[in-house]
Amino acid sequence: MEAAGDQHIFRSEYPAVPVPDNVTLPEFVLQDAELYAEKVAFVDAFTGKSYTYADVVRDTRRFANALRSLGLRKKHVVVVMLPNVAEYGIVALGIMAAGGVFSGINPASHPSEIKKQVEAADAKLIVTDDVNYEKVKPLQLPVIVLSDASAAHLEGPINFNDLLTAADRATTSLLPDLHVSQDDLCALPFSSGTTGTSKGVMLSHANVVANLCSTLFSVGPELIGQVTTLGLIPFFHIYGITGICCATLRNKGKVVVMGRYDLRTFLNALIAHEVTFAPVVPPIILALVKNPIVEEFDLKRLKLAAVMTAAAPLAPELLTAFESKFPGVQVQEAYGLTEHSCITLSHGNPAKGQRIAKKNSVGFILPNLEVKFIDPETGVSLPKNTHGEICVRSKCVMMDETTRTIDKEGWLHTGDIGYIDDDGDIFIVDRIKELIKYKGFQVAPAELEAILLTHPSVDDAAVVPLPDEEAGEVPAAWVVKVKGGKESEEDMVKFVASNVAHYKKVRVVQFVESIPKSPSGKIMRRLIKDQMLQRIRSS
Ligand code: AMP
Repeated sequence: MEAAGDQHIFRSEYPAVPVPDNVTLPEFVLQDAELYAEKVAFVDAFTGKSYTYADVVRDTRRFANALRSLGLRKKHVVVVMLPNVAEYGIVALGIMAAGGVFSGINPASHPSEIKKQVEAADAKLIVTDDVNYEKVKPLQLPVIVLSDASAAHLEGPINFNDLLTAADRATTSLLPDLHVSQDDLCALPFSSGTTGTSKGVMLSHANVVANLCSTLFSVGPELIGQVTTLGLIPFFHIYGITGICCATLRNKGKVVVMGRYDLRTFLNALIAHEVTFAPVVPPIILALVKNPIVEEFDLKRLKLAAVMTAAAPLAPELLTAFESKFPGVQVQEAYGLTEHSCITLSHGNPAKGQRIAKKNSVGFILPNLEVKFIDPETGVSLPKNTHGEICVRSKCVMMDETTRTIDKEGWLHTGDIGYIDDDGDIFIVDRIKELIKYKGFQVAPAELEAILLTHPSVDDAAVVPLPDEEAGEVPAAWVVKVKGGKESEEDMVKFVASNVAHYKKVRVVQFVESIPKSPSGKIMRRLIKDQMLQRIRSS
């Protein structure tokens, strides 16, 4: 860690790592795959369906060729609406290898949310499964459907397996006529950033390759081919696609894919597949600590070496309780964000002589990254041990220069407040951006406010996060009704729920006379949150 120049800029204590500048993301992660041809890359925890490295290379190429034959061209966006399935990595990498842009979306999304993302991304094609086909059918775009045999009769969409078989007749080398460069876009995940509603985050092949190089600095040769990772975090989220799929493929490990969560299947999968590394979110740590179902399992059979938790804050008491229940399982907290292509702060690998950051720290600065902490009002950079907005600068920062979250010097302003201590460990203490994190999923207050405002009885509305033991945070709203509005608070909760994916619904509505706003018209969210909590406690 080092502070440089007249600004307080901090860098990794570990040496820079090389980042290849001439490979695309699919080439980077599938490099040397032929040496592991027979090794399983993806196995579905529910169905047992699996793909070896040879299968992944072959089907990525076949899918890319098929997409080209369907008319997909460079920069064309493909929206992928799938749960975690064994084919997910092939679908995403195939799109990128064809020069296209992968844009994942939660399959639980409401049709209006899907329409919004498809339109904002100007998508040319959708990939989904038979269960979700009806939701995308009205969008009038070509749809590729992954379906089991029972649904092979679906009329209209293109069948994924048929497409691959047809592509077999195409060239055997990967699209020799096509030049995809590292500066081309490869992914367009949606995130609300620091303010407003969800928008596409432009990530290039170079951004994600750079992120993987920094994140994987801790992986030594002894781990190549050895790690079995749990693929439970949704692959439509950057944490799932970069941190799990791409990182595991790069290391020639195995991903045990779970398309839905229940604690018994989760524990069974850990044991049966000898999972060694499980990236999770804090609510799963809570379940592992508190749910009596865990007692049904012989935890001595676990081969788990580490769990990684990111995407949302982990309560210190929870970490302590987990450590005493699962001795020997290392807990690595990590911090990242979509706008930075995934992980930003993390821990090292003691087997490589690297250190683990302190308990409750989200880790230290990864190689190749610069971090500073600024006063959010003045923008002045702050010294160690001083709370400020975390800013990060690296090759992993998204390409979008039009947003105000990247300043002229290339710093990404994260909207999170934290500090770095004397040892270089970083702690997150607060969030100033308008983001709610429900079990690690993003919920944009502005989106829920816009929905509330479409109700004829609503005059004004403000949505804020309330703390929740299980979910971390839940959305809650203050609503100003028009004169004579007859609806109850419960009616408003139901109204929002009927318009959004289940994880976004507001859990509490309180009617108020007016929404407090600053002189510049900004909703005073902190004040609202405090007053809401007071009301709840005194009721
Ligand atoms: P996303 O882009 O969905 O990954 O959301 C990124 C945001 O999640 C960050 O800006 C933080 O507000 C929050 N976040 C991610 N990791 C952590 C963590 N380990 N602790 C606290 N908040 C986190």
